[in-house]
Amino acid sequence: MDDRGIRQTDLIRAAQKRGARLGKSQLSQYVNGRTLPRQDSLELLASLLGVHADWLAWGKLPEAPQALPMSSNQYAERPSTPNAARRMPSNASGAVHPGQDVPSTDAVPVSTATQTSEPTSADTFDSASKLTASTAHAEKHVATQQVPTSERTPVMRHFKKSSKLNNVLYDVRGPVVDEAARMESEGMRILKLNIGNPAPFGFRAPDEVVHDMRQQLPDGEGYSDSRGLFSARKAIMQYCQIRNLPNVTMEDIYTGNGVSELINLCMQAILDNGDEILIPSPDYPLWTACATLAGGTPVHYICDEQAEWNPDLDDIRSKISPRTKAIVLINPNNPTGALYPREVLAEIVEIAREHQLMILSDEIYDRLIMDGFEHTSIASMAPDLFCITFSGLSKSHMIAGYRIGWMVLSGNKRCAKDLIEGIHMLANMRLCSNVPAQAIVQTALGGYQSVQRYIVPGGRVHDQRDLVYEALNQIPGISAVKPKAAFYIFPKIDVKRFNITDDEQFALDLLHEKHILIVPGKGFNWHKPDHFRVVYLPRRRVLTECMEDLADFMETYRQA
Ligand code: PLP
Repeated sequence: MDDRGIRQTDLIRAAQKRGARLGKSQLSQYVNGRTLPRQDSLELLASLLGVHADWLAWGKLPEAPQALPMSSNQYAERPSTPNAARRMPSNASGAVHPGQDVPSTDAVPVSTATQTSEPTSADTFDSASKLTASTAHAEKHVATQQVPTSERTPVMRHFKKSSKLNNVLYDVRGPVVDEAARMESEGMRILKLNIGNPAPFGFRAPDEVVHDMRQQLPDGEGYSDSRGLFSARKAIMQYCQIRNLPNVTMEDIYTGNGVSELINLCMQAILDNGDEILIPSPDYPLWTACATLAGGTPVHYICDEQAEWNPDLDDIRSKISPRTKAIVLINPNNPTGALYPREVLAEIVEIAREHQLMILSDEIYDRLIMDGFEHTSIASMAPDLFCITFSGLSKSHMIAGYRIGWMVLSGNKRCAKDLIEGIHMLANMRLCSNVPAQAIVQTALGGYQSVQRYIVPGGRVHDQRDLVYEALNQIPGISAVKPKAAFYIFPKIDVKRFNITDDEQFALDLLHEKHILIVPGKGFNWHKPDHFRVVYLPRRRVLTECMEDLADFMETYRQA
C-alpha cells in the first residue's frame, strides 16, 4: 500500500462509498500483521482491492499457485500440500478465527499466492497495491519463522534499472510519445511529427540500393571485419577524400549500426567519470544521454537563435574547464536545421586548438543541404587535431531502418593512440555492424544521389520546409528561423503570451486537443520552455492541415 500510495483511510472511504463499514483498528491491525479481519470485513477488503479473500487471508488461493512479489530475496516456506500452506494456530478446525491474533510463530506462504479476480468497480484498488499490503502482512511472519533452507522457495525479487540511467533522458521517444501510443491504442489517429524517420512519410529508398542489397544478401551471412567490409570502407574513404578529411586510412573508418551505436561507443571509449564534454543546446539528445551514461558530464553550450542558431563562441569559451576533453558539433543541426558557416567552424577549431580538445562532428545530414549552401566538414579544417566525423545513410538515403552509419578518425591520430586502441576494442566487442547494410554503402555513396531531387525547389523536403516555415511564422506568438538543412524546424513560442511554463505540458495539450505529436524543447536539452521541434516530413497537404490546426490551437491556448 505504501508503494502504491494507498492509505488505510482511502480504503475506509472506499468502503463508506459502498455503504459498508471497515473498522480503522481492524484494518491497521491487519496491515501491521497482527490480526486477520473478520470474514465479512475480509471479503469487503478483498472486493475493494479487486482480489480474492482467501489470498488476502492466507497469501494463496487453493489452486493455481503463482509467485508473489516480495521486496527482497527472503524465503517462504514451501507447503507440502495445498492445505498445509499456512501453519494454523492450534484449534480443532485448524482455522484462524476472524479477529483472532495470529501467533508470531505462524508463517504465511507468500511465495505461492495468486490473484485471479479483476478490479470491478471504480472504488476498487488495483491488485498490485493489494499485493503490497498482503506482502507486508506476510513478511512480518515469514521473517520470524525458522524454516530449513531446503524447504524454502525463493520469492520474486524486484529489479530496478541501474543508477547509471538516473540522469539519462531520451524524450524524442519519451512520455509524450507514450501518451500518443496510448491514444492510438484507443483508435485515435495521431500525426507524428516527433521523429526523423522518412519511410512512414512516403520517402522510399533508392531502387538501386534496395536491388543491390537483395543481390548481396546471401553474402552477408557472416560477421565482417569489426570495422566493416572492405568495399564499404573504401567507399567511405573516397567520400572523405572528396570532403578533404586529412590523414584518413582504411583503418580509421568504422561502420556502425547507425550513427547511434557509434556515438555510444565513442562516449564509452572517451569519457572517464567526471570528464566534461561540450555538447550543443539544443542537441540531438543521444549525445547528452550517451555522455551521461558513460559517466561523463555533458556541459551544454548555447546555440544562438538570433545568429541563425550558430554556436555561441563566447559561451563555448566560458564553459571550458581543465576537465573538458571534447567538443561535439551537430552540423547540419538537428533540431534547428542550421548549417554552420566556415568562419564559425574556423573559430571552433581555434578554440579546440587552444584547449587541446578533440572534435566530434555529427554530420549525418551533410547531404541534405538546401538553397545552394555548401557543407564543410570541420575535420577538413583541423589536420593538427584529433577529430571523429560521424555520418550514415539513414537520412540521405531514407533507409533509417537498415541501420548503417560510420565514423572516421582523422587529423592528429598520434595524440589519440591509446584512445584509438580503446575504440577498436569496443568495436571488436560488438563484433561488427549489420553486414547486409554495409554491402550497399558503395552503391549509395557512388553515382547519382537521388536525395538531390528532394532538396531543390519543387522537391518534397524543400517545399515542405518552405510551407512549414511560412505557416509557423504566420501564427501570432510563434516565430522560427528558416532551416538550411535536414528536415526539422525549432520554432520559438512567446511564453508570456500563452503563459507557458512547462513545454512538455504544451506538447501534451496539443496532442490531446489536435492529435499532433511534437517534441518539446526540453527533449533536446533546451532549458527554457519556449521551443518545440517539428519534423516536416509529411506531404504538403498534411502539413497544411496540421499548421491550420496548430494556429487554431494557439488562438485560445493559455497554460493553466
Ligand atoms: N545524429 C543525429 C543528429 C540524428 O538526428 C540522428 C537521428 O535522428 C542520428 C545521429 C542517429 O542516426 P542513425 O539512424 O544513423 O543511428
